[in-house]
Amino acid sequence: MQDFDLVVAGGGSGGFAAALASARRGLSVLLVERQSALGGTSTQAGVTGWEAGCGNTGIPFELYKRLKKIPHATGIYRLRRHCCWPEDGWFPGGENVLVPGLGYIDTCVRHALGTLDLRQDKKSFRERIAGVVFEPQAMAMMMRTMLGETERVTILTETSVAKAEIAGRRVSGVTLDSGATVRPRFFVDATGDGNLCTACGCELLQGQDAKTRFGEPAAPDAPVAKVNGVSLIFRVTRNRARDTVPVPTGSLPDACWWRDSPGSAHTVQFPDGDLSINILPTMDGAEFLRLGYAASYQECLKRLHFWWNWAQVRFPEWADMHICWIAPSLGVRETRRTVCEYMLKQQDLESGLVRQQHPDIIAIADHPMDFHGAGGHCQGVRSAYGIPYRCLIPKGFDNLLVSCRAAGLSSLAASSCRLSRTMMQLGQAAGVACALAVKRRVNLPSVSPEELRNELAGEHVCLDFPPTPELAAHLRCE
Ligand SMILES: Cc1cc2nc3c(=O)[nH]c(=O)nc-3n(C[C@H](O)[C@H](O)[C@H](O)COP(=O)(O)OP(=O)(O)OC[C@H]3O[C@@H](n4cnc5c(N)ncnc54)[C@H](O)[C@@H]3O)c2cc1C
Repeated sequence: MQDFDLVVAGGGSGGFAAALASARRGLSVLLVERQSALGGTSTQAGVTGWEAGCGNTGIPFELYKRLKKIPHATGIYRLRRHCCWPEDGWFPGGENVLVPGLGYIDTCVRHALGTLDLRQDKKSFRERIAGVVFEPQAMAMMMRTMLGETERVTILTETSVAKAEIAGRRVSGVTLDSGATVRPRFFVDATGDGNLCTACGCELLQGQDAKTRFGEPAAPDAPVAKVNGVSLIFRVTRNRARDTVPVPTGSLPDACWWRDSPGSAHTVQFPDGDLSINILPTMDGAEFLRLGYAASYQECLKRLHFWWNWAQVRFPEWADMHICWIAPSLGVRETRRTVCEYMLKQQDLESGLVRQQHPDIIAIADHPMDFHGAGGHCQGVRSAYGIPYRCLIPKGFDNLLVSCRAAGLSSLAASSCRLSRTMMQLGQAAGVACALAVKRRVNLPSVSPEELRNELAGEHVCLDFPPTPELAAHLRCE
C-alpha cells in the first residue's frame, strides 16, 4: 500500500473533519471506515440533527453551506411544542420544525438549558433551541465530495483498522482487516469507540467514573457500569413507502425503563416533511452494557414499534403516518473514553472559559450534562467551556490523537460535549495539529498550543464566546 502521512480510523464526524483539515494542509491521508458510507452516527444511526450550542464554526459551517445548495438536503429547525407546555396541546416530547428565514448563526447561540428555565421562560427557550437538520445520504455524499476535492484523501469503506504495532511511544503501523499494513507518521482514532486506542494498548474508561477518579461533585461514590442511554432512531412519513423490516413480536420486558410510562421523544422535521423520531432513550445504558450491541439492537427494534403504536393511538396527528426508515446502527451516546494527557471534567464545565485557564483550548461547547435513561438528569452549564488539545493526546503516545467521543473526557463531561459538531471541532483540531507537527518536525504533544489556536482561528473556528464581530459576520454569509 502507498505511503501516507496520516491514517484516520473512522469516518464519522470527528474522522471526516480530521481527514479534511489535514489534507487541506498538504498531508496525504488514508481514511478507513468500517461501514459502507461516511458520517458514522450522523448518517448510520440517524442522528440527522445538529443541536443548538456555542462554537460549531469552521468545518461544520462549510458543510452546512455546501448542503444548502442541494434542494431539500438541509434546513434550520426550531422547538415548537414540548411536553412541558401542555397549554399548547400535548406533544409526546419535544417537537422541532423547520422555520424559513433562520440562519446557521441562530444555531450557534448559548444552549438554552444552561441559562433558562424550560417551564418559566418558554418564549426565550423556544427562540434559543434552533438546530440544523440534514438528509443523511446528502451528508454522507457531501463529506465524500469535500474530501475528494483535496485530492489527498484515499477513502476505504467497509474496512476496519484491526491491529496496531507499537514501538516505544510510537504507533509504528496498523493492519486493516483486509490484511494490508500501513505505516504513516501519524494516526488519529476517530472510531467513536476508541478502537484504535484499544489496539494500541491505551488505557480506556467505560461507565460512570467514581468521584475519586476526577473529584467531580456529581459523580457517584463508586464506579457504575452504565453508559448514557442508547436510541434506535426512525423516520416516519406520509409520502414514502413503508419500511420492510418485519415487526418484532413479544412484550416489553420488565427491564425496559419506560415500560410503565412511555413518553418523551425528540422529533425533527426533515425538509420533505418526514419526521425523525428519537425516543429518549430507547434503552437504558446499564441494560445496553449487559446485553451487548447486537442483542440491544434487536431489543430496541421491538421497543421502537411498541412506542410508535402507543404514540399513534394517543397522538391523532400521527395516525396517518408510518415508519419508512429505521437506522441500521444503534445510536450509542457514550462509549469507551481514552485516558489522555488531560481529562475534561465537570469542574471544567462549571468553571467555563473565563476560569479554566488552559493555554490549549481548541474547541468550545456548552451543551448541558445530559444523561438519558433510568435516573436520567440534565444539568445545564452556566457558560461556554473549552476543550484542551491535551484531551486528544492519549497518555504515553507521540504520534497518536483521538478525535471522537472516545477522547479524554470524564463520563460527565462526555454527557455534555459529545455533540456531532463538537466532534468535528475536535477532528479539525487534530487534523491541523498533525499538519503542524509535520511542518515543525515535532511530535504531536509538542505542537505549540498558541500556533494551533491561531491556525484554527484562521479557519474560522470559534474559540471564545460570544464570537468576534468578524466571525459573526462570516457566519451570516451563507
Ligand atoms: C441517539 C443519539 C442522539 C444524539 N443527538 C444529537 C443531536 O441532536 N445533536 C448532536 O449534535 N449530536 C447528537 N448526538 C451525538 C452525536 O451524534 C455523536 O456523539 C457524534 O456523531 C459522534 O461522532 P464521532 O465522530 O465521535 O463518532 P461516529 O460518528 O460514531 O464515527 C465513528 C466511525 O468510526 C467507524 N469505526 C468504528 N470502528 C472502526 C474501525 N476499527 N475501523 C474503521 N472504522 C471504524 C464507525 O463505523 C463510525 O462510522 C446524539 C447521539 C446519539 C447516539
